[in-house]
Amino acid sequence: MARTIDLLIVGGGAAGLSAGLYAARSRLDAVLLERMGPGGQLVNVDRVENYPGFPEGIAGHELGPLIAQQAMDAGLAFEYGEAQALRPGAGEDGRHLVETDGETFAARAVILAGGSALARLGVPGETDFEGRGVSYCATCDGEFCRGQPVVVVGGGDSALDEAQYLAEIASNVTIVHRRLAFRAARIAQERVLAQPNCRVLWNTTVRAIAGEEMVNAVEVAGPEGEARLDAAGVFIYVGLNPNTAWLAGALELDGGGHVVVDGRLQTSVPGVFAAGDLRQFSARQVASCVGDGATAAIWAERFLRGADAR
Ligand code: NAP
Repeated sequence: MARTIDLLIVGGGAAGLSAGLYAARSRLDAVLLERMGPGGQLVNVDRVENYPGFPEGIAGHELGPLIAQQAMDAGLAFEYGEAQALRPGAGEDGRHLVETDGETFAARAVILAGGSALARLGVPGETDFEGRGVSYCATCDGEFCRGQPVVVVGGGDSALDEAQYLAEIASNVTIVHRRLAFRAARIAQERVLAQPNCRVLWNTTVRAIAGEEMVNAVEVAGPEGEARLDAAGVFIYVGLNPNTAWLAGALELDGGGHVVVDGRLQTSVPGVFAAGDLRQFSARQVASCVGDGATAAIWAERFLRGADAR
């Protein structure tokens, strides 16, 4: 027996929680479904410095719960579960069915806000040493490398922000980047390049990650040939993949697996909206995800109340 509600929000990161706040304040019969804890990727970020309203910056593990608390105080029903299938319009009266690990929701509107997952590098040793020196979260694992050398892979905001964090803990940080220019914000580049214990290996790729019980080296290839870098930890930040595999065939995805949306963040299925990292052309910032959540919830409410949304 499907559980009938107005709105199902899938994902409890910045976008989903923001949508939940708006939905609760609109007094919609809404449920937010999250498979882990509230806050999404935000909770692993050491310091968020570009979310307006916090001039000193704020730790991700503080900001995530604050947004969650605000939404729940407004009345949002937050529940744990993992969405596994979307069947658009397959329920009674054309409701959208979302099957989870425990039950089926029949919702008149859905907001997809499941975010993204950190990409894997795909080199030998990466999987073998995951949790034994290979990490995707410097704030979680950096402390294990205190006073020892580490390698950071990537040239985006994540790599440079986390390299700066690790520079305070590790003896030295080597950033391995495949090109000659970073794509991270200029302020992050300036800070990392000013760190005396950070160096960059440009035009360099990782060939393999090596070790015994734990990681002890990273094999790289660059303009000066091959080299073996001593490392107690390898922190990999080579981009994000949208969490949309479960949506394939249910609605339109672009070539990168992002959900295609219109200006109201409505997907190819009327009544199904997408917000945050998983949608096409997301700026993938906390601020833009929060904005997406608000936008999607406002248009979902208009869709539900039958106001002219077009
Ligand atoms: P990203 O911006 O996609 O950067 C990924 C980096 O990894 C790029 O430098 C890319 O190199 C490199 N890369 C990709 N595939 C690779 C491979 N197979 N081998 C080696 N290198 C590879 O990812 P991100 O840094 O995780 O950031 C994701 C989004 O979150 C961005 O929109 C970012 O602005 C945002 N974010 C913002 C902040 C902040 O505002 N402080 C912090 C974290 C993240 P190329 O440059 O050559 O493509």
